[in-house]
Amino acid sequence: MRIQENINLKKYNTFGLNCIAERLFHLEDEVDLVKYHQHPNGYAKQRLLFSGGSNLLLCSEIKGTVAKIEWNGIKIIKETEQDVLVEVAAGHSWHAFVLWAIDRGFGGIENLSLIPGHVGTAPIQNIGAYGVEVKNSIESLRYYRWETGEIEILSNKICDFGYRTSIFKTQWRDKGVILSVNFKLTKDKHNLNTQYGSVIDEIHKMGELPSILSISKAIISIRNNKLPDPKVIGNSGSFFKNPIISKNTLSELKEKHKDIPFYDQENGKVKLSAGWLIEMCGWKGKTHKDAGMHDKQALVLVNHGNATGEELWAFANHVKEDVYKSYKIKLEPEVNLIGLSNL
Ligand SMILES: Cc1cc2nc3c(=O)[nH]c(=O)nc-3n(C[C@H](O)[C@H](O)[C@H](O)COP(=O)(O)OP(=O)(O)OC[C@H]3O[C@@H](n4cnc5c(N)ncnc54)[C@H](O)[C@@H]3O)c2cc1C
Repeated sequence: MRIQENINLKKYNTFGLNCIAERLFHLEDEVDLVKYHQHPNGYAKQRLLFSGGSNLLLCSEIKGTVAKIEWNGIKIIKETEQDVLVEVAAGHSWHAFVLWAIDRGFGGIENLSLIPGHVGTAPIQNIGAYGVEVKNSIESLRYYRWETGEIEILSNKICDFGYRTSIFKTQWRDKGVILSVNFKLTKDKHNLNTQYGSVIDEIHKMGELPSILSISKAIISIRNNKLPDPKVIGNSGSFFKNPIISKNTLSELKEKHKDIPFYDQENGKVKLSAGWLIEMCGWKGKTHKDAGMHDKQALVLVNHGNATGEELWAFANHVKEDVYKSYKIKLEPEVNLIGLSNL
């Protein structure tokens, strides 16, 4: 197990924020995790556990220990004519896993192509994009609970998945570590989801027919055009969640804002577009020092260079206040705030 002291986490977070941590433990396998749990400067002094660092807003300094999950690997557990059960280690790159599945004709996660981060984090906020959420492909996962030091097998149902949330973001936040995830992927070539947005248009533009490969290629192309590349402009994808409200609240809003877009949800509620609300309040493309909202996608908070986590968070709060003033809607961050107060 590699341990570094007084280490800058800049290259480990997609916002590209300078954040000095007292200690960084590199956990290269599950044995390292147990050693880290027992180490006097390890879990006992933990301030942050992370993986790909693509869903974190970090403060400038972390007094204490930080641990990074780095173990990876993919194993086929069971295969039938219809589907396949695959176990993937927590530190495996999410997009690399998606490509691995597409290569073998295993479907279900192709719409989640190019989402940054690691496999073990995907269940935490139930990653989703282009009409698909990861919860639909998760069978179960292995979970190491800090309190007991034991490994539990958690079924999909126990994870209590919802829109950009799960039990790991609520009741069991920071209570344990996802070690690996079991996915059930389909071999049914007709079970495709091309309903969302411009996916089918992009496939036609490429001169292809719908397939798991063409969907993935189309989504990669759309995402590359729309979202800033964290290697060029620091960001964490969507900074706020899309608000879910009741139909009554929507009716009230429509009295003043007739053109407000909304999307019906399965639970009888409606989802609003946080990006639209932010854009309507005039924040799209606005900056203050090096903090800003992206000029192509208003929902993406960006670091144009040397912003601190504190500056980005202050900027995000101005946006949030303006949206509240105009629409009486409280935006909630989707990104995990580390060492910054959740106002
Ligand atoms: C350009 C861009 C586009 C994005 N697009 C999308 C999108 O379309 N849809 C979407 O849903 N998300 C999107 N995201 C957000 C992000 O990629 C996902 O949330 C991703 O799952 C985060 O994974 P990570 O490994 O980087 O997590 P990290 O940032 O490393 O960690 C996030 C949180 O999970 C905890 N954690 C990490 N690993 C574990 C583990 N194994 N066990 C327990 N806790 C753990 C950490 O403590 C932290 O609180 C985007 C981000 C970027 C930068």
